[in-house]
Amino acid sequence: MDVRVRFAPSPTGFLHIGSLRTALYNFLFARHHGGVMILRVEDTDRTRLVEGAMDEQIASLAWAGVTFDEGPHVGGAYGPYVQSERFDLYREHAQVLLANGTAYYAFDTAEELDAMRTRQQAAGIAPRYDRSAMRNQFTLGEAETQRLLDDGAPHVVRLLVPLTREVRFTDMVRGDVVVAGREIDDQILLKSDGFPTYHLANVVDDHLMRISHVIRAEEWLPSTPKHVLLYEAFGWAPPIFAHVPLLLNPDRSKMSKRHGDVMVRDFRARGYFPDALVNFVALCGWNPGSTGEFFSMEELIQHFALERVQKAGAIFDYKKLDWMNAQYLTSKDPAQLADVLLPLLQERGHAYIERDYVAAAIKLLRERVTFLADIAEFGDYIFGDTLATLASDVAQGLRENSALRKACEHIRAHLDLSSAESFKTCASEAAAAGGLKPGQFMKPLRMVLTHREVGADLYETLTLIGTERCLARLDAYLA
Ligand code: GLU
Repeated sequence: MDVRVRFAPSPTGFLHIGSLRTALYNFLFARHHGGVMILRVEDTDRTRLVEGAMDEQIASLAWAGVTFDEGPHVGGAYGPYVQSERFDLYREHAQVLLANGTAYYAFDTAEELDAMRTRQQAAGIAPRYDRSAMRNQFTLGEAETQRLLDDGAPHVVRLLVPLTREVRFTDMVRGDVVVAGREIDDQILLKSDGFPTYHLANVVDDHLMRISHVIRAEEWLPSTPKHVLLYEAFGWAPPIFAHVPLLLNPDRSKMSKRHGDVMVRDFRARGYFPDALVNFVALCGWNPGSTGEFFSMEELIQHFALERVQKAGAIFDYKKLDWMNAQYLTSKDPAQLADVLLPLLQERGHAYIERDYVAAAIKLLRERVTFLADIAEFGDYIFGDTLATLASDVAQGLRENSALRKACEHIRAHLDLSSAESFKTCASEAAAAGGLKPGQFMKPLRMVLTHREVGADLYETLTLIGTERCLARLDAYLA
């Protein structure tokens, strides 16, 4: 079977992290099988469109490395198929169902539908379209229906759901699903403004685009029986379905804005590497079947299998994501990271810094931070000479510490950074000159020279800062 999959977002907002995972699973599945991945914009609900949302979603997908293999060309890449450009097609297809008796006209007003729901609620039954009580083709009769249509009376087209049988399908993640027909609503297919609903457009497109596997979020599982009925109504074979589990907060609530960052652009702005985020998200709900945790996109493609997507909701562990990002930070080429960090350093006023110097600083500091950008702040004492980070009482304490002053005077005269060994010797001698033990000297010395209490190995830090700048800092302290 030719594998053809699609990612079908609605442009109702920015790309959600869960949608990135859905897109990613489609992409990995397509690549794994040498298939085709399509982007389809589902913008049938004109009331929920958000300006710029689709461009943002496409940009976020591209940033994450999710690409497409078919569709109209947009700026050198495959762009999306857009449902709002295909409305005629869906109307024609609704006509097919009206003609073969699997769909029908209904003329109920919003008030009539509200009253129906109120009645149902009062009677304690689940709200669904009451075909035998409402104003539709069946209750009005053919002649009256035709008259209303000729008069241009507002109407919708609904799916005629068979009430007395079951609808069955097999989901690659959820297994066999069986739903009784009487539990399925007579779904509106064409709205009164003539626009199709998601359900009609989605099924028509999946068929016409020859989609082999529908891989989408679990929230669409309840819609799937309707879709299966639609395929039947058209006389088409349905695709294979795979509904991927929800992403949950660590407290098992649904991931939403209230709990933190949920949009891909938030993660990007915070400084996560796209490959780290992709690696992490891929493992939220999918088990690679091996013990390793680090997977490049190529490796994900190689290992991905829908059979190992879990049923249960997947916890999105922000702490683990931070850890993973930090791991990626320590494994990337420092020179390339320097190219990314340089503009940030320039923004912080370090205008004339060299790439090699930045790369060396990254190597020195990266094990202590989560994000590359943290290094710009954390390493201020390496990149620049403005050391204003000490609290004033701490600075005063250092200034008034006469033993420390003596030791610093000594090291000012004898600083030797030619090797780790010689630095150790001169630091011990300086400590002795001030009447301090070496252990009592290193921390205040670090504070004098870097204005930080902690940091990378002091010798390596000072080597990077350079003898000259170290001496200038000692002078500033002693002055
Ligand atoms: N437009 C739907 C969404 O935004 C797509 C659902 C599907 O993949 O069928 O999630």
